[in-house]
Amino acid sequence: MSKGSVFDWHLDNFDNIMGSSALNYDVKKSHGHKPTRIMEGDHNGGWALYIGSRYGVRDSTDEYDTIVNLTGNSIFGEYKCHIIPKHFPKLMKYNEVPPDIPQAAEREILLNWPNYGVPHLQFQFWVDLFDQIKYSKKTLLFCLGGHGRTGTATCLLMLASGVQSDGDEAILWLRKHYCSEVVEGSQQRELVNRFAKWLKKGADNGKGR
Ligand SMILES: [Zn+2]
Repeated sequence: MSKGSVFDWHLDNFDNIMGSSALNYDVKKSHGHKPTRIMEGDHNGGWALYIGSRYGVRDSTDEYDTIVNLTGNSIFGEYKCHIIPKHFPKLMKYNEVPPDIPQAAEREILLNWPNYGVPHLQFQFWVDLFDQIKYSKKTLLFCLGGHGRTGTATCLLMLASGVQSDGDEAILWLRKHYCSEVVEGSQQRELVNRFAKWLKKGADNGKGR
């Protein structure tokens, strides 16, 4: 596990951060995840990324400036498309909001990501999303169970941030420090590893991060 200087990881205190959910590794499928702080940094006065499961986070969504919702169902209504609020200008090019659907709440980024699958998004999206997260004080990312889509997205963001550089290592880190069930199926694991290689290729070419 590499520790980038801009990141203030609290690995020593992880049990405190995790709370009781850290003890629930043996509880299968039905267990939920309350918001768990996974990454943070000092940029722009400080930012932090929390992840969890829909039912684990539902009572505290008001506390976050940015919500990355991977369930495909807005917490404010029913939409089946990527919805990027207008005040995330760097991410607007990923917006799929048809003209007759109003913008969802300003702070919710809603992705259309099939359960157990992978989303239809360019790799650059995850780099741009991470850049955006650095400007939000608190970001909450979640899917239904907090495992497959949430685990995959979190690994992609850890890689985009630079604290992890290897796909499988990112997955193992998250399995150890958040939940042993993250990243579901070969498609999601492959996406994480392909993204890690894509980033590395960019870095090698002097164009990447
Ligand atoms: Zn879990």
